[in-house]
Amino acid sequence: MDGWITNIQPFSLHDGPGVRTTVFFAGCNLACRWCHNPEAIPKKPRLQFFAAKCAACGRCAAACPTGAITQTPPVPRRSQCIVCGKCVAACPNDAVTLSCRRVTPESVMAEIAADKSFYHNTGGGATFSGGEPFLQPDFLAALAGLCREGGIHTAVETAGNIDYDCITPVLPLIDLVICDLKAVDERLHRGGTGVSNGLILENITRLSRNAAKLWVRVPLIPGYNDSVDELERIGNFLSGIEAEKVELMAYHRLGIAKYESLGLSAPTADLKPPETADMARARDCVQAAMKIGVVTIS
Ligand code: SF4
Ligand code: SF4
Repeated sequence: MDGWITNIQPFSLHDGPGVRTTVFFAGCNLACRWCHNPEAIPKKPRLQFFAAKCAACGRCAAACPTGAITQTPPVPRRSQCIVCGKCVAACPNDAVTLSCRRVTPESVMAEIAADKSFYHNTGGGATFSGGEPFLQPDFLAALAGLCREGGIHTAVETAGNIDYDCITPVLPLIDLVICDLKAVDERLHRGGTGVSNGLILENITRLSRNAAKLWVRVPLIPGYNDSVDELERIGNFLSGIEAEKVELMAYHRLGIAKYESLGLSAPTADLKPPETADMARARDCVQAAMKIGVVTIS
C-alpha cells in the first residue's frame, strides 16, 4: 500500500484547523496556470535544483553517474538524468532534491504522530494535500485509517476532479474535506485548468451532503476569476450548497522558485498578487450573491 508524496510539512497553520502536519501527495489531473506546487503534478520524481542554496562545491557533479551534471554550479541536463538520487545524497545544502518519493503509510504516520500533543492542544491534526490525494485512494485510506486509530483529526484538500467512487470509501475516515473551486463558468475553468468543471461542481454538491464537514476554497487569481460576473456565478453556486466555511485565497508567488528549480518557466511569472482591497471587494461580491453564510479571505 505504498504511496507517492512530495513532502511532509509539520506545523502547518493554513491547511485546516489548529496546528497540522500536511502530507503532500504526488500526482494531479489539473494543470492550473497559477499552480504553486508544480513539482506535485506528475506522480514521478524529477530533479529539482535550487540555485539560491548552492555553495558551488562540485560534489553533485562528482557523484553523477550519467553526465547529467558536469558543471559547477550545476546546469542539469535533464534528458540525461535517471533520477538515481546520488547528487541529492552528495549535496550538503539540499540544493538538489528529487520532487517526490515512495513511502509506506506507516512511515508517514510515524512523522504525523510525532506532533500529536500539538494537535490535541490546538484542535489540529493531519491534512492530506497535493497534488490530488484522491488519485491514490488506497494509500489515502490506509493513512487516514491509521490516523483514525490514533485519534488524530483528518482533513483532505482536493481539487475535486475525481470520480466520486474514489471518494466514497475514504470519506468515513475524513473529518474535514477542503475542496477548491476555481471557476463556475465552464470555458473559463477549462482555460485556466485544462479540464471541465462539471465533475468538480457535482462533487462539491455531493460532498456538501455527505462529508462530515466541507470547506470550499476559491483561489482569487487576478485577471482570471476576479470579474464581478464570475464572482457572482461563484456566489450563486455556493448559495445552493452547505459548507461550514467559504474562503477566498489570494494568489501568491511562492511557487515561482519551484518552476525554476524544475527547469520550467512559470506561466504566471508576471502576475501580481491581489491587493487587500481587491480581496475585500471580491469577498463582498461573493457574499452578496450567496445571501447567507460568511466568506473569509486570506
Ligand atoms: S539524480 Fe542521478 S542522474 Fe540525475 S543529476 Fe542526480 S546524480 Fe545525476
Ligand atoms: S553539491 Fe549541492 S551545493 Fe555543491 S555544487 Fe552541487 S548543488 Fe551546489
